[in-house]
Amino acid sequence: MNETYNGIPSVFKRRDGNFEIKVLVNAGMLTSGQMKIVSEVAEKYGTGLHLTMRQEVGILGIPEDLLDKALAELSEVGLSPGSAGPMIRNVTACLGNTYCFKAAQETTSLAREIGEKFGEQKVPGPIKMAVAGCPYPCTRPQFNEIGLMGRVKPDLNIDDCTSCGICVDVCKTGATTMDDGNVTIDYDKCNMCGRCIINCPADVRFSAGDGFMMFVGGRGSWPPHEGQILHEFISRDEIIDQIDRIVTVYKEKGEPGKRLKEFIGNIGFEEFKQLVKSE
Ligand code: SF4
Ligand code: SF4
Ligand code: SF4
Repeated sequence: MNETYNGIPSVFKRRDGNFEIKVLVNAGMLTSGQMKIVSEVAEKYGTGLHLTMRQEVGILGIPEDLLDKALAELSEVGLSPGSAGPMIRNVTACLGNTYCFKAAQETTSLAREIGEKFGEQKVPGPIKMAVAGCPYPCTRPQFNEIGLMGRVKPDLNIDDCTSCGICVDVCKTGATTMDDGNVTIDYDKCNMCGRCIINCPADVRFSAGDGFMMFVGGRGSWPPHEGQILHEFISRDEIIDQIDRIVTVYKEKGEPGKRLKEFIGNIGFEEFKQLVKSE
């Protein structure tokens, strides 16, 4: 067990005898001003910086007697230590449709909203969450306790289609095909990535529905486990309530130290689905 400072799980002693402050970052986003202060704090009080797998920043090598000063300077720019122990951890996110050409959905404001609403709540075991903007998910939401993967249901105005075939070329699942100049969508094969919409030069493809696939009970560390699909398609507006329900049930019925995966395994996925149905 790591020695912590003043009982803060994310300020803890390392093998060099000094402390690390793990700075809470949601959606992998920091302002340039915050980055500057993180860098200054590391330079003044510590020995270096480490970017974690989960988009956090660790400030390394801080002697115990300098921790208060370091924490105070971080606090001035709205940064705090966080994301360790049996708590709701920071929410990771890819850049989503604000920046990524391949994205089906927005991600960073959603991840921040989730982080602000649920972050640092005590739960029986750590809850890690990740948001990805499309079904080719860079943030691996399937391997988190709760994962969200952006989707969009494609449709098209066939009368305006020029039969250029680009949608067939970009579709990786074979859901879009062309026969005698007519394109069709096989929804059984479609993974709702939206790339046919983004790439249609005639703008005849459009979204007939925006949402996310939601996974639950995944984990990335040993043994790695892919979460189960709680929702094939959930709208952005329903996500916060759904997470709230999962967290409430897990807090009420989960056993200390047992991860969400184990909790779901013990009660069964069908029972879990009933319990977390939004009221
Ligand atoms: S997950 Fe999809 S949307 Fe997000 S960065 Fe990767 S390719 Fe882009
Ligand atoms: S949304 Fe993606 S999988 Fe579905 S038809 Fe378009 S390109 Fe193919
Ligand atoms: S990319 Fe657009 S215009 Fe071209 S074939 Fe597909 S739907 Fe028609």
